[in-house]
Amino acid sequence: MTATLAGDGSRSHGASGMTTSTAASALSGGVSGAAALEPLVRAVLDALAEGAARRGGPIPAGAPGELFARVAQAFAEPGGDDALSRLTELVAAGSADPADPGCAAHLHCPPLAVAVAADLAITALNPSQDSWDQAPATTALETLVLGELAELVGYPPTAAGVLTSGGTESNLMGLMLARDSVLRRATGRRVERSGLPASPQQARIFASEAAHFSVRRAAALLGLGEDAVVTVPVDHELRMRPDELARALRECAGLGELPLAVFATAGTTDTGAIDPLGACADLAAEHGAWTHVDAAYGGGALLSDRLAPLLADIERADSVSLDWHKLGWQPAAAGVFLVRRAESYASLARRAAYLNPADDEEAGYSSLLGLSLRTTRRPDAFKIAVTLRTLGWDGLGRLVDACHDLARAGAAAVRAHPRLELHADPVLTAFLFRYAPADPALADRVNAGLRRRLLREGRAVVGRTELPGEGPGRVRLKLTLLNPNTTAAEVERLVHLVAAAGQAEEETL
Ligand SMILES: *Cc1c(COP(=O)(O)O)cnc(C)c1O
Repeated sequence: MTATLAGDGSRSHGASGMTTSTAASALSGGVSGAAALEPLVRAVLDALAEGAARRGGPIPAGAPGELFARVAQAFAEPGGDDALSRLTELVAAGSADPADPGCAAHLHCPPLAVAVAADLAITALNPSQDSWDQAPATTALETLVLGELAELVGYPPTAAGVLTSGGTESNLMGLMLARDSVLRRATGRRVERSGLPASPQQARIFASEAAHFSVRRAAALLGLGEDAVVTVPVDHELRMRPDELARALRECAGLGELPLAVFATAGTTDTGAIDPLGACADLAAEHGAWTHVDAAYGGGALLSDRLAPLLADIERADSVSLDWHKLGWQPAAAGVFLVRRAESYASLARRAAYLNPADDEEAGYSSLLGLSLRTTRRPDAFKIAVTLRTLGWDGLGRLVDACHDLARAGAAAVRAHPRLELHADPVLTAFLFRYAPADPALADRVNAGLRRRLLREGRAVVGRTELPGEGPGRVRLKLTLLNPNTTAAEVERLVHLVAAAGQAEEETL
């Protein structure tokens, strides 16, 4: 089975902008609902193709203000049956297309066409995962999909989990269960209550300098305060340094503080750096802390025979975040949260009389309510289920390997270019680099400027970030290769386009 990506299809055929006369108030349920949807879906597909053709590149050219004005004008026009086509074409023309080889800034993947179609089925059926009687089959399917994902991570059958909106929510859940579990042990509090005791010891979370910003946000939301996060220094490859983690944990113990969690990252957002997972688990265990592994990006490596060994010891984590809307080619959202022991979920359990009465549960009408922070919730596991059975684990692994190959080709092109400087070899499918102007003092300005130049010209979407630390000279460009259908030659062209934009930018300063 070839992997058809949704964006690729819209590039390949132009079509007439058909309008539809279907009654605006038709509903999508049942047999008649499918009939009402058919002309609308055809109109959407035509408008997507029209919009992509009008854009003609990875992102619309022009200044942000011009785009805003175009959208505001179209939105202000009086509507009717053509609103769907008109506005779909508008957003397609005004989109950043992750299927375009020139679009390589973020962990923003082109979704598989089959996953998009699966998501359409779910949108039309509109099940909600908070009670059995709103989602009989998808309740079962989510449980089964999570079972396979837990096995992929290497978890025992005691594992449990839930589909989430993404790494941000999964990280919050991991740290919430860490807080409740460690505090329960430290204070002997009741199991079924979540939260902080009246006078908490200063609790600490240990995360590297390169960890995702959602750690701090989670610490704030959990009432621990952003300052509860201890920043652990990284090495040149942006991996957490185990000696520094050991030192920070000792210092925490020396001050009488409570080490809640070691938050390790398997695949940092910028470079795919993988923290030493085994050392993190050892040190956390030694200090009675929870281990959470944020594998929102790097979890995809588990699909690849070649890259999976990089994630050795991930199964020792108490909880894990995975994002199938990154290296998984799903339309957002397809976040996954897993815990090694289902009983860790105790503090999230909820009995809501209208959703999961005890006698219903005893009679076999089980609900997923107590596994999620949310109430109403889409069955995002369905598109993953369809993808798994369409491509198979092997098929997905080949997509991961293809993107890894592209990153290596891109890094080689950077290394071969006299004006480009590679930060480090790609671990997964991304790498950092920069344009080196004749005057090194101008490096940050030139690199920041060349990226906006490419956006303005509508020619490429390249990432930009900064290395950890202080002071100037830390701005870096980033390529994140997530389109397995891109060729190495296209990635090399993109690298050369960046170098040419750097030269043009340098000349204006
Ligand atoms: C993307 C990412 C997140 C955030 O995930 P969302 O799905 O955007 O909420 C967290 N951690 C890492 C390492 C990521 O790459």
